[in-house]
Amino acid sequence: MDQFTTIADQRAWSRAQLLAGKRIGFVPTMGALHEGHLSLVRVARQKSDVVVASIFVNPTQFDNPEDLERYPRTLEADLSMLAGAGCAAVFTPTPAEMYQEGHATFVEVVGPLTDKLCAATRPGHFRGVATVVTKLFGVVRPDVAVFGQKDLQQVLIVNRMVTDLNLPVEVVVAPTVRDPDGLAMSSRNRRLSAAGRAKALGLPRGLELARQAFGAGERQSLKLIELVANELLVHENVELDYCDVINLNGFAEVTTADHRCVLAAAVFVDGVRLIDHIHLDGRAIAVADVDV
Ligand code: AMP
Repeated sequence: MDQFTTIADQRAWSRAQLLAGKRIGFVPTMGALHEGHLSLVRVARQKSDVVVASIFVNPTQFDNPEDLERYPRTLEADLSMLAGAGCAAVFTPTPAEMYQEGHATFVEVVGPLTDKLCAATRPGHFRGVATVVTKLFGVVRPDVAVFGQKDLQQVLIVNRMVTDLNLPVEVVVAPTVRDPDGLAMSSRNRRLSAAGRAKALGLPRGLELARQAFGAGERQSLKLIELVANELLVHENVELDYCDVINLNGFAEVTTADHRCVLAAAVFVDGVRLIDHIHLDGRAIAVADVDV
């Protein structure tokens, strides 16, 4: 596997692949990799000839400097995992390489995708994401880019941006990978103690209880939200950042749930922020399922 730290070197490699008629698949990450990230590499391999991953802890998407500082970094392990998963190249730029002197351009998606959930509680976060993804696309020049459903709002925003800016990239959503106990894999999970993890399990458990309640006929959003809150707020040092029922038709918060809704939540467990959601229908989500 090739590793490139400069934009020029990654560009030269991508250009050579494209000239050779290869379809480039791309998996952007912030490192501290786990099986969830590797599942995206596998999906990208199925949809392309050569896969590039990037590892870049993007400073412009962190609204909190301490969170940026504490974000886990495990480069050596990440490189061997990516090589093992069949990545052809990895792009690992420094912040100074990505944001050069005088950088003054940002990409901002507006509208229903960016006025709620993580966008409401992390101001500027998705502006940083949209900006860095656009920049990475410009360097890597992928034909297809794979993002995890775990960060549902993120992939929908990226897809909107790709459509609006006429970027020649296909955006693909890959399903959320969970540990056997049900917790969605996340780089941030490694900051949880055993006791913290036990508390965090209330999140997938509550979401699953809500899905079952929906299956049994419950349609009131507040009741579904309560099922999640009840699993979490019994613990000390657990705070609900948000928990909302969102209709994928319009990406609107709704008080009455239907088959096109997801229940999405973000929670702080001992200061570690975790997000998860469930489609009340129990299905995986594709970008085509969402009208917004
Ligand atoms: P991150 O390194 O957290 O920025 O994530 C990089 C990519 O991996 C994003 O597209 C995430 O949605 C995706 N991802 C993170 N965790 C998971 C997971 N548990 N299952 C599937 N994809 C994931």
